[in-house]
Amino acid sequence: MNDPSPLARWLTGPRFAGMPAHGAGLPPPLLSFEFFPPRTEALETQLWAAIRRLEPLAPRFVSVTYGAGGTTQARTHATVARIVTDTTLTPAAHLTCVGASRAEVDDVARQYWDAGIRHIVALRGDVPGGGAYAPHPDGYAYAADLVAGLKKVADFEISVAAYPEIHPTASSPLADLDNLKRKLDAGATRAITNYFFDNATFLRFLDLALAAGITAPIVPGIMPVSNYSQMVKFSQTSGVRVPDWLGRYFDGVEDDMETRRMIAAHVAADQVRTLQANGIDEFHFYTLNRPDLTYAIAHILGVRPRRAG
Ligand SMILES: Cc1cc2nc3c(=O)[nH]c(=O)nc-3n(C[C@H](O)[C@H](O)[C@H](O)COP(=O)(O)OP(=O)(O)OC[C@H]3O[C@@H](n4cnc5c(N)ncnc54)[C@H](O)[C@@H]3O)c2cc1C
Repeated sequence: MNDPSPLARWLTGPRFAGMPAHGAGLPPPLLSFEFFPPRTEALETQLWAAIRRLEPLAPRFVSVTYGAGGTTQARTHATVARIVTDTTLTPAAHLTCVGASRAEVDDVARQYWDAGIRHIVALRGDVPGGGAYAPHPDGYAYAADLVAGLKKVADFEISVAAYPEIHPTASSPLADLDNLKRKLDAGATRAITNYFFDNATFLRFLDLALAAGITAPIVPGIMPVSNYSQMVKFSQTSGVRVPDWLGRYFDGVEDDMETRRMIAAHVAADQVRTLQANGIDEFHFYTLNRPDLTYAIAHILGVRPRRAG
């Protein structure tokens, strides 16, 4: 019999299992880390300190985001190009459809390929400053179109976005799932989810995806939350439900960053361990260019630095 697809494998274990006992022997998961390109020299220093700190954990890949409307194009390119030349890491460059013609987007992709970048996270993007999205008249309208276009430029590995709580402007949950399938059918091999806090919602989303014929891995995006109030604001626009228990955890420690960071590590490590108990073995971390939380959580999960040499 053929090996089952990653998604089928994840779904064959017990569902909605509780937290595994410590020392239950779960193998360390596969990780990937997301960074954003720096705007200033100080942020550049912070980014590279983060990359260097996380590099020994040997992630599957590290991805670098792309600003709204291509505003970070040069900085995203410079960052991924330097990751290729100066580190042992495999970079993935994010690329969006917003505010650019197909020819311009293809050109950016070609520059990535020429710089040795073989993995693109293909996204529609949002309108800078908010507002309703309208495709560029000569552009790729949606991420599925971008995936198909990129495959014509070169044989990139392509990841796409998924939304366990449904993309905020999707006409229906089913339409959003169809859209995810179209992106994968167009040539993407992995989806990475928006962050979420309710594991049951994510696991149900996987069930629906499998039922819709999706077999590619849908990798959970994990956001270690230390700035609770900022995250709540952001979640309102991105359709992410923030559970009451999370609010209670952060209640009263608004001015106590140290405690908030400890809580953040605990919450994210528990989230990942519960998902592991349900069969998931790959996770994408939104690092926000701050490595310490991600490093600590990875350590709890059994991921250890690879020694040089
Ligand atoms: C892992 C991850 C990384 C991200 N990185 C970045 C980044 O680097 N830069 C950035 O600007 N943003 C980024 N985003 C945010 C993303 O750009 C937004 O969430 C955006 O609103 C949707 O992008 P998408 O690729 O999911 O769009 P799409 O898959 O194109 O879907 C967008 C919406 O349109 C609907 N839709 C799709 N096709 C059609 C159609 N033919 N007709 C009508 N409706 C349709 C979908 O159901 C959905 O509601 C990221 C998101 C995630 C989850």
